[in-house]
Amino acid sequence: VKIVDLETVYLSCPLEEPLVYARGEARSRDIILVLVHTDVGLTGIGECHPADAPLVITAVLEKGIKACILGEDPLFIERIWEKMYNNSLEYGRKGAAIIAMSGVDIALWDILGKMTNLPIYKLLGAYQEKVRTYASGGYYHSKLEGLAEEMSGYVREGFSAVKMKMGKADFRADIERVKTVREAIGDNIDLIIDANSAWSVPTAIRIMKKLEKYDVLFLEEPVSPDDIEGYAKINATIAVPLAAGENAFTRYGFRDLIQARAVEILMPDATWCGGISESKKIFAMAGAHNMLCAPHSFDSAISLAANLHVGASASNCSFVELDRTWNPFISDLLTEPIYIDGEGYARVPQKLGLGLELNEETVDKYRIEI
Ligand SMILES: [Mg+2]
Repeated sequence: VKIVDLETVYLSCPLEEPLVYARGEARSRDIILVLVHTDVGLTGIGECHPADAPLVITAVLEKGIKACILGEDPLFIERIWEKMYNNSLEYGRKGAAIIAMSGVDIALWDILGKMTNLPIYKLLGAYQEKVRTYASGGYYHSKLEGLAEEMSGYVREGFSAVKMKMGKADFRADIERVKTVREAIGDNIDLIIDANSAWSVPTAIRIMKKLEKYDVLFLEEPVSPDDIEGYAKINATIAVPLAAGENAFTRYGFRDLIQARAVEILMPDATWCGGISESKKIFAMAGAHNMLCAPHSFDSAISLAANLHVGASASNCSFVELDRTWNPFISDLLTEPIYIDGEGYARVPQKLGLGLELNEETVDKYRIEI
């Protein structure tokens, strides 16, 4: 079997209400589909996170990676990964090149599943058929009342864990937000907060002391992803466990977080961190240090599925993130959306490979030529 073509499809959907968070705001939802075609008529579906730079990532795929994978046997996934990595070594290792590689790697696993008649999580050695998710939302566009309504709505839908954004408002206003949400959701729901790298180390420590009484399950990305020492200091100082990883890349980036004991929970996302192959290695490294993984997932039903397959094949997956904001790439991208049960668990797609079929109408509606 040979790879005969690599196709990238960019989809973008404007948002009526921007998603406001600590480091900026999203005015559209965007995804990059990666389709790997083979000479036996099978096509693997993958996806890359667009990272606010879809042109850059598409160029890496079209002008860099494509030539490097054409003619390869798609089942030599590990070999193709190393080839892509070495080919992009001087401009890659983090960011756009690894994100682009991630999409290809996911598509290769999809091909492997389709050729061997198995869903990916079983190819990886299954652990569970459904994975606990948390309802991810709580952005800054709503005032306190709207925030409370949104978060308690997730609880009414059956979620036992929710996540809200932090780090944009001033110190006291942010504390007020957490207080409001804790009161709205009650004492029995897990509450996660995400500062999107907005704080300094002293601010993070100071604010988390004040938040201790609100029983936060974990704090995500308090400071810059490049301040691993800062993470380690916060992690050793505050009672609430730290989580990070959406801005870490490959086994090497996660190794650094683990070695510094910078966090307790690692958040690899298969569409950024190097694909399913690399996520699996990160889960294994975390396991060797008695650490949990809670994959980040934001962009679409494809990234959700990729992360679910990895999470369902591991004993140390605590959650997969479930974006609950308005997102047609989660609700309308597949002919059969991913099923979330009444307790906030996502069922792993059972069909071959990723187990997904694209809804071509949605693809056509949001497709943009670049
Ligand atoms: Mg985050």
